[in-house]
Amino acid sequence: MRIGALEAGGTKMVCAVVEEGQVTERISLPTRSPAETMPEIIEYFAAQQVEALGVGSFGPLDLDRNSPTWGYITATPKDGWRFYDLAGELQRALDIPVALDTDVNCAALGEARFGSCVGLDDCVYITVGTGIGMGVLCGGRLIHGMQHPELGHIPVAPVFGDNYQGCCPYHGRCLEGMASGSALRGRWGIPAQEMADRPEVWQLEAEYLAQGIVTCILAYAPRRIVLGGGVAHQPQLLPLVRAAVTRQLAGYVSTEVVKDMDSYIVAPALNDNQALLGCYELVRDPSVQG
Ligand code: ZN
Repeated sequence: MRIGALEAGGTKMVCAVVEEGQVTERISLPTRSPAETMPEIIEYFAAQQVEALGVGSFGPLDLDRNSPTWGYITATPKDGWRFYDLAGELQRALDIPVALDTDVNCAALGEARFGSCVGLDDCVYITVGTGIGMGVLCGGRLIHGMQHPELGHIPVAPVFGDNYQGCCPYHGRCLEGMASGSALRGRWGIPAQEMADRPEVWQLEAEYLAQGIVTCILAYAPRRIVLGGGVAHQPQLLPLVRAAVTRQLAGYVSTEVVKDMDSYIVAPALNDNQALLGCYELVRDPSVQG
């Protein structure tokens, strides 16, 4: 089966074809306004003659199948995309079934079925880039409730000596406000990738990410956590995060799984195809959405 996969991001739209669990075609388009970007996406998938489409999108999204606005991107600050009927537009234009979930839920699903969490029904994917998001697969289902979880915005305690006020327009010092790529740039004045040789930057970053991860461990008891996204490409970060998580847990959760921290918190294993493969899985196995 030839399935289309769309990873809809705030800066780029990655369009791909997935067959038998392999990405066989892939292009990337800049995200502009819907009027400019949607026709390009539709043209691509129409030409590829896909039979169905899985979409992993930036949010927030309405994922309630009983809601009249299911499939909409809702309260995003991104120009033109606010209350935009993403899934509906694609469905009408392509006349094929469309499945939708968040980009991070799709990445969690992709890693669970094809990557670093194969065989696990309980895992979390965290992306640390411009913003922070977490996708949660729990008992083999992607978590939804009245909407999807928004773990990038959980409160964190300021680390002693850090006076940065945070960059989240809603909460200031939430996890995203203190540890996203935007926060790193705001606190230190230069982009994350230019601070690779400054240990104090990464130690502080690890302290905040660990707070988010500890909350996630306590809330969802995942069997593995994948740390991805542009900021997490810094190779020095992962060992610091593992150490900080162990310290912050303070022995309270001490299963054998958590004691083996090197295989508990891991890097993605799918070369940036994790969300696309998750889109494919949404179509192939709709039961994962409950
Ligand atoms: Zn926030």
